[in-house]
Amino acid sequence: MSTLFIDGRWVSASAGATRDVINPYDQSVVRTVSEADVADTEAAVLAARKAFDDGVWRTWTARHRSRLLRRVAELLQRDRAEIARTETLDTGKTLVEGGIDVDDVTSVFEYYATLAESDPGRLVDAGNPAVRSRVVYEPVGVCALIAPWNYPLLQMAWKVAPALAAGNTMVLKPSETTPLTTIKLVELLEEAGVPAGVVNLVLGAGDPVGSALVASPLVDLVSFTGGLATGRAIMASAAGTVKKVALELGGKNPNIVFADADFEAAIDYALIAVFFHAGQVCSAGTRLVVEDALHDRFVAELTERAARIRLGNGLDPDTESGPLVSEEHRAKVESYVRLGIEEGARLLTGGRRPDDPKLARGFFYLPTVFDDCRADMRVVQEETFGPILTVERFSEVEEAVRIGNDTTYGLAAAVWTTEARKAEYVARSLRHGTVWINDFGPYLPQAEWGGYKRSGIGRELGHAGLGEYQEAKHIYENTAPEPQRWFAR
Ligand code: NAD
Repeated sequence: MSTLFIDGRWVSASAGATRDVINPYDQSVVRTVSEADVADTEAAVLAARKAFDDGVWRTWTARHRSRLLRRVAELLQRDRAEIARTETLDTGKTLVEGGIDVDDVTSVFEYYATLAESDPGRLVDAGNPAVRSRVVYEPVGVCALIAPWNYPLLQMAWKVAPALAAGNTMVLKPSETTPLTTIKLVELLEEAGVPAGVVNLVLGAGDPVGSALVASPLVDLVSFTGGLATGRAIMASAAGTVKKVALELGGKNPNIVFADADFEAAIDYALIAVFFHAGQVCSAGTRLVVEDALHDRFVAELTERAARIRLGNGLDPDTESGPLVSEEHRAKVESYVRLGIEEGARLLTGGRRPDDPKLARGFFYLPTVFDDCRADMRVVQEETFGPILTVERFSEVEEAVRIGNDTTYGLAAAVWTTEARKAEYVARSLRHGTVWINDFGPYLPQAEWGGYKRSGIGRELGHAGLGEYQEAKHIYENTAPEPQRWFAR
């Protein structure tokens, strides 16, 4: 049960504490893991600090780091089936989704392996032939990488791969609810040959473990993915030591459907957008904004199909959607359904737990559709993070854009229309970090991911995702210095 990784060794928590990791499908204990405290966290930070300041890691070239990342990508594929299964047991997601996550993570490691090798810095023309001016990119230092429970392996890997590519050392803190695939990732990094102290793993609650990382004067950067309230607390705490902060927070993502959209595709994706992984997706399309002329037919069909979604064990190939991650989270989703009803939204389907006795021990909740929603309702504005779709209507393009931007978040949005100019106009007018046209959900390792407004600060993936973990240093060399005689002698 030694599941903390500190300075190249697997150790138990110093106080001997443990935590049971629960399968949300049936509440069975999947595994018991070590539960760190502040002392363990400080030991992990110190190991990362030493490895950065005077370890062998500093001598590794970009090519060397790149080879490490490629090896991790190979190992991820070697163990794909085992990792996907572990993610299913830990989160409740289907096995197919777990496999997709492993493939995604593999391609992220491959992408940053390539980028690490092809990043020589850049020359700057100083306008003076005697001057050699260049900008080089260096690691920031010790990074605290804090991840949520909905995509445990994927969200952590989006941080680990660029942080390693850039040459940082790090302490990983997965969600206490879902630590298992992060333990596996660290095992693979160890097998791939990462030097001791470069990657450290602490498991435990947000407070005290996460908060100790954020407050530590030995940590240079915090990269956090999680909820808005936690993001605020992290930013406030990080101000004490003026560390760099990258935040990937929540979303309330509009899916705008015009009457001229391809009906079949738009319906299919509208369901995927909100009910995939039971709505526990930061970019979930929970807010359907549909043109008046299409509304009745579209919502009737969508409601009928939502009611037929097969809930079950993620390991069962017939299952289309698994449970919510925990009892606590289901209670939050239920409170939003009650709120929606109080606010006057019209419940079309769902709004309760399933009747099937086979699902009674799991944290299941039925796909839920609310019609007659308005932008000023809390169920429309706040992130419910569950299988709840709210439906609003519009009649003109400008109204669709206004509704799409009427949110304090700005993570992702989609627009469905067969008219290319309208699609482009709406996509450019929406204040969201990703906009899909006639699609919903895909992202690429090469393309930046992140939020406008309160959906976050900074970007993951792409060039900018590497840039988060780099300092830019300008080296200005005067090859023929001469006295300036600015000051008289
Ligand atoms: P959360 O904010 O409760 O927890 C996230 C992580 O932060 C966990 O590891 C937790 O232990 C840790 N934490 C909690 N309090 C802390 C503190 N005071 N200091 C330091 N660390 C602390 O979020 P969650 O419930 O695990 O995840 C769901 C949220 O994540 C949703 O809001 C979702 O939108 C967001 N999310 C965003 C993205 C994105 O790319 N923008 C991706 C996935 C999830």
